[in-house]
Amino acid sequence: MLRIGASLWIRIDSLIDSLKRLFSLIIHITVPKKEVYLILPYLGAVTLDLKRKLHSTFAKSLPQCNIKIIFKSTNRLSSCFQFKDTIPRELRSHLVYKFSCGSCNATYYGKTERHLNVRAGEHIGLSALTGNRVACKPSAVSDHLLFHENKISDFNNFTILCSESNPFTLSIRESILIHRDAPILNKNIASIPLELFH
Ligand SMILES: [Zn+2]
Repeated sequence: MLRIGASLWIRIDSLIDSLKRLFSLIIHITVPKKEVYLILPYLGAVTLDLKRKLHSTFAKSLPQCNIKIIFKSTNRLSSCFQFKDTIPRELRSHLVYKFSCGSCNATYYGKTERHLNVRAGEHIGLSALTGNRVACKPSAVSDHLLFHENKISDFNNFTILCSESNPFTLSIRESILIHRDAPILNKNIASIPLELFH
């Protein structure tokens, strides 16, 4: 009886071990630990110590998760070099520009979908290609220059306020800037009425 009992006990013990291994395998297969990625900035010498402490904390608090900590450097190669060519100011288009009179404090805001100097040249009577004098196109700016007896302005009197590829959005942004700054030469005329924004 004792011998049978001992033998049975050994078998039960063996069975339990087998079941434990089986359940452990099943649990491992059906309920995998959830992988959680934590991306943090690389902080130099303290990084390894921080990583150890974080692993310890997560292991106690979230044992069902497998925490993977990734440290990323904030100093990347792309931040050291500017690969994208900057478009020269005079060749930029789809923008809102500001004309500042060289003889008084009058300003004018306008928009153009063409190159800045092409539109600026129409205002001040200068060719964007040659820089020679050409006929002005009638505008608030050219009218104002008549007031100064055609004292020559140049392309440097124009600055870019913002760029926008969508024509409608460009008109909206022009109107908002005119509404905000009320340039003297715009005479309170904006591209898009802004009553909705009041
Ligand atoms: Zn002026």
